[in-house]
Amino acid sequence: MKKMPIVAGNWKMNKLPSEVISFVDEVTKLVLDIRSVSVIFAPPFTGLFEMNVKPPFYAAAQNCHWEESGAFTGEISIPMIKDCGVDYVIVGHSERRHVFGETDEWINNKVRGLLSYGLNPILCIGETIDERKSGETALVLKDQLEKGFDSIDNIRDCIIAYEPVWAIGTGVTATIEQVQIAHTVIREIIGKNYGIGNDVHILYGGSVNSDNAKDLIQTKGVDGFLIGGASLDANSFASVIRTVEEVQENRK
Ligand code: PEP
Repeated sequence: MKKMPIVAGNWKMNKLPSEVISFVDEVTKLVLDIRSVSVIFAPPFTGLFEMNVKPPFYAAAQNCHWEESGAFTGEISIPMIKDCGVDYVIVGHSERRHVFGETDEWINNKVRGLLSYGLNPILCIGETIDERKSGETALVLKDQLEKGFDSIDNIRDCIIAYEPVWAIGTGVTATIEQVQIAHTVIREIIGKNYGIGNDVHILYGGSVNSDNAKDLIQTKGVDGFLIGGASLDANSFASVIRTVEEVQENRK
């Protein structure tokens, strides 16, 4: 049996704390009977405290700081996140890398910090359109993986999200072939470096919605999705979850 797919919703800077409970309730009611998909909600930090979910539903933070505490105005530490009952943390999202200038070194600090607290990093990697056009996609993925996982022996508790920068929030989805090639490259690298290529979830992210989810989830090497825009609407998000559930059930 294949490992349980994951559908994660990254709300980015959307939804008020007072909207969290009703939204999560709405989604969970729509997919109450699922048994073959894990669902992760990633609200802004202000919503994390409101989250109260049980498996197969989980909470994620969208970012963290690696230091335990101290003079880091505006930052949120890993123990603070853990205290909210969170299991997963998105790290190295393209908006963090490209809008806020996060470096691979910071991202690696975050991954190491999270693992030391028993939390699961969702490490986002992906090429820009210029890097793709100049044939550097595989090199970029290798570089981001190796730097993100630097000094980590065991990445079993990590999730990787392949998110081509040009497909995030643009309505442009990578083709099935592009996704399959990228996921194969990633799996080969982690197989070679850590010997556990098949055990690690590799999610696809980039304009996933209820129309393209079925084709994408059936793509070889895709173990689920990281979704931005379509995760903000309960019906759209539930529809993607249900699609993944049906495909997974048919595989059994
Ligand atoms: C994301 O924010 O990680 C993402 C993939 O966004 P969208 O689904 O809107 O492209």
